[in-house]
Amino acid sequence: MPYEGPGEHSSYDCSVARSVDEIGREVVGRCLALGFASAGVCEALPIEHAGAFRDWLDAGKHGSMDWITEHLEHRLDPRGLLRGCRGMIVVGDVYASRGEADGSPGTGGGGPEGVGAVGRVARYARGRDYHRVVKDRLRRLTRGLAADYPGERFRSMVDVMPIHEREAARRAGVGWVGKHTLVIHPRLGSWMVLGCVLTTMELRSPGGVRDHCGTCTRCIDACPTGAITPYSVDAGRCISYLTIERRGEIPEGFHAAMGEWVFGCDVCQEVCPHNSPRDADPWPVRPEYRRGAGAIPLLDVLGWDPARFDREFIGTAVRRVSVSMLKRNALIAGTNLVLRGASEGAGVSRSVWAAGVGAIAGDDAEDPMVRATARSCLARLGPAGQGGGA
Ligand code: SF4
Ligand code: SF4
Repeated sequence: MPYEGPGEHSSYDCSVARSVDEIGREVVGRCLALGFASAGVCEALPIEHAGAFRDWLDAGKHGSMDWITEHLEHRLDPRGLLRGCRGMIVVGDVYASRGEADGSPGTGGGGPEGVGAVGRVARYARGRDYHRVVKDRLRRLTRGLAADYPGERFRSMVDVMPIHEREAARRAGVGWVGKHTLVIHPRLGSWMVLGCVLTTMELRSPGGVRDHCGTCTRCIDACPTGAITPYSVDAGRCISYLTIERRGEIPEGFHAAMGEWVFGCDVCQEVCPHNSPRDADPWPVRPEYRRGAGAIPLLDVLGWDPARFDREFIGTAVRRVSVSMLKRNALIAGTNLVLRGASEGAGVSRSVWAAGVGAIAGDDAEDPMVRATARSCLARLGPAGQGGGA
C-alpha cells in the first residue's frame, strides 16, 4: 500500500536503530508533511522495460527528441546518476482534482469578454512551473534528510528521467502506469506531476500498485492523432510533443487533429475513468497550480515579440516553448477554430483571422517556420484565406 495522506512530522530521532521499512515510512511522512499528495520509496534498480524502451527508440517513436538517446546508460539504470545510489523517493503533486471541469476558457472557442478566440493549454502548465514547485520542496526534503542522516547523499530530479520516475512511482506505490503511459494514482487519478530523489540511503518498496486499466481502451480510442498503442505513445504523433518539443514545422497531416491545443494535450487524461468524479472530498490542489494561464488569445499571439511572451508566461511551464513555436501552434489552433465555425462567436471572424495569418505569411522578418505554417493555414482556409477576405 502507498503511504499517503497529510501528516505532520515535526521531529525525528534518527539515533535510534530502525528497520529499513520504518525509515521508509519516516521518509514518506516527511514528503507528505511538505504537502505532496502521494509519496513512496523503493530500491534504485535498472528500468524493467529496457527492451521495450530500446524498441521504442529504434522505431523512431521519440520523434526529433534526439537528446533522449544521449546518456542512454543512465536512462536504463539511474544508479549511474549518483555514486553509491541505493534508494529512490518518489513524490506526486496533484494539479487538478478528479472530475473537475476543465475551467479553461479555451474549451469552446471563446474566452472571457474581450479576449476573443483562445487556444487550450494542458492543465499542468496553467500555474507556476511544476518543476519549480516540486523541486523547491524536494530541496527542503533533502536538506532535512542530509542533516538527520549524515553521510548519506541525495540528488533530486523533476522530469529529467521520466522513465525512471514512472517505473519507480509504480514500485514505490504511488500509482500504476496506464496504457497512455502516465502514472495513475488509485484514488487521486492522473492529474499529477512527479518528482524523484536518488539517494545512497537504503530504501525498500512496500509493494507496487496493480494495473487497473483492465480491458479499457478509452484513451486509445480518444487520442486525436492515434498516438497510443497500449503502454506506448508514439511521441512523433502526440500533440504534447508536437506543440512543445518539436522545434520545426508540424507536418500538415496533424494540423486538423490538433484541435485548439496550443500547449500540450489532455485528451487521454480527460477520458480516463480514473479521473472521473468521486464521492469523496477532492484532494486540495496547491494554489501554485491555480494561477491560470489557461487561455491563450490566438489573434493577439500572432503579433507578440519575445519580450511580450516572456512577460505573459514568466514562471510557467509554457516557457518551454519559444514565441515562434507558440505562434506556430496558435496559427494551427486558430485555423481549426475558424474551420470548425467556432471563432465568430468568440469575436474573431474568418476574414479577420485570415488577414492575421496572411500578414504573418508575408512578413519577411518573421521566423521562416512560422511563415511556412501560416502559408499552410491559408491553404486550409481556402479562397477566404487566399484572398484574405470572408
Ligand atoms: S496527449 Fe493527446 S495526442 Fe498525446 S497521447 Fe494523449 S490524447 Fe494522444
Ligand atoms: S483510459 Fe482506460 S486504458 Fe487508458 S489509462 Fe485510463 S483506465 Fe487505462
